[in-house]
Amino acid sequence: MTRTLKCSFCGKSAAQVGRLLAGPKVHICGTCVEVCVKILDAVPSEFGDGWESMSDEQLLAALAPTAATVDGTRAVLQAQIEELRKRTVSWDAIGRALGISRQAAWERFS
Ligand SMILES: [Zn+2]
Repeated sequence: MTRTLKCSFCGKSAAQVGRLLAGPKVHICGTCVEVCVKILDAVPSEFGDGWESMSDEQLLAALAPTAATVDGTRAVLQAQIEELRKRTVSWDAIGRALGISRQAAWERFS
């Protein structure tokens, strides 16, 4: 079996994105790094002085990068669960690990 390296956040292969940066068991492509930088720029660094201090425009500008991160994270979660299912780990065990019911795990990820 050939292992294709993929961005852990957007799921694109190394061939599609050019270069991947590697971390412990994860990889990230340049596009996703840019998304992260945008989020860090857009999100106020102090929590106490949070969303309320941002203008409508700033908040609107922060929506797309945040949504991209949510999608990327969901893709990582899905990939992890698919790997567990390949290993025939039960929906019951996956649900327990996520703190949800077996049924809820199955409905969300199968
Ligand atoms: Zn990526």
